[in-house]
Amino acid sequence: MASPDPQMQTERMERAIAALAAGEYKVTALEPGAWSVINGDKVPYRVTHQACECKDFENIGKLGIRCKHICAIHILFPKGAKQAMEQTLSPITGWTRLYHPAGVQVTIPIPLEKPISPETAQSALTSVSSLLDAGWLVEAPGLEEGEQKQEVVSVSRRESKDSTPIVAFYLAHPKTLKKFLHAYLNTQEDVLAFEAATGLRLNAIPLWPGERDIDKDHREAGKYIVPLPHPIHIVWAINPKWQQWSAEGGKATGAIEPHKRILVRYDVAQAPAPKSSGTSPLVRQYADGALVNGDTNEQAAYDAFVKNSSGAKPESKETLKTWVAANRHLVNFNNQPKPQTTAA
Ligand SMILES: [Zn+2]
Repeated sequence: MASPDPQMQTERMERAIAALAAGEYKVTALEPGAWSVINGDKVPYRVTHQACECKDFENIGKLGIRCKHICAIHILFPKGAKQAMEQTLSPITGWTRLYHPAGVQVTIPIPLEKPISPETAQSALTSVSSLLDAGWLVEAPGLEEGEQKQEVVSVSRRESKDSTPIVAFYLAHPKTLKKFLHAYLNTQEDVLAFEAATGLRLNAIPLWPGERDIDKDHREAGKYIVPLPHPIHIVWAINPKWQQWSAEGGKATGAIEPHKRILVRYDVAQAPAPKSSGTSPLVRQYADGALVNGDTNEQAAYDAFVKNSSGAKPESKETLKTWVAANRHLVNFNNQPKPQTTAA
């Protein structure tokens, strides 16, 4: 017998999640380990962790696949969960989204009966309070009100008229051609924070001579937009000046639009320090002592080599060239189409 398509199981799990999120299932406990599940067609099925009375399970059960009702029971009452029996005492139709302190957002079922009486509303409130007391978070951890977090993968550098360095960060998505935001590095501390967060030396980034940040589809983007050694998270907020401009009428007033997003800080907790053996992580250096020059393709090749060799650096530029010749598909040459790979 052919083994079942894993997609068949995934589909049913997704249907179960969607139905639970929409509150479409009425789940009540029958006895330990068995529940009654009523869904759209109003027919109650007796469901356990292993079996269900529905038509779908009749067909797919013998293939070792769970129907959406069994999936729902596994989601609501994970096997071995201590509280499973307590939870079965009331139907679950309410949900809340909270953050685990490690940053993962989780949808958590809240016991809630329909129709909602003041008592059940109170008990739902108590449930959520208990979750918060236990350490679940309402906001993504580490963020203040109004702050957002964004992953960025590359950067460019230019200077203001008074020679203040300006760095612009870019998203990975190929359709976002413009920078996500830019930041003035006004002080030496700003420069150090940038270098520590990105793993790049500011002066190693080629200086873009334009007055506005270079876009990803510019013909010289490959030279001036430098990939970061690893993606980093930046914390940003809406610029108060932009909010004021918008509140006062925005474009209609003819006033110049201020920049919408401002950099608040780098999320260093999300950026593990690059592994290095002795030398500064900001320096790309071959094992023979030679430094990687400002060429972004050489930098990209170097980073790809390190990434694919558990942090070991290439012996020399020649070693790297040889490696690249065989591993071009592993190198993220900035903004250049991938070369056609030819079978050996
Ligand atoms: Zn079923």
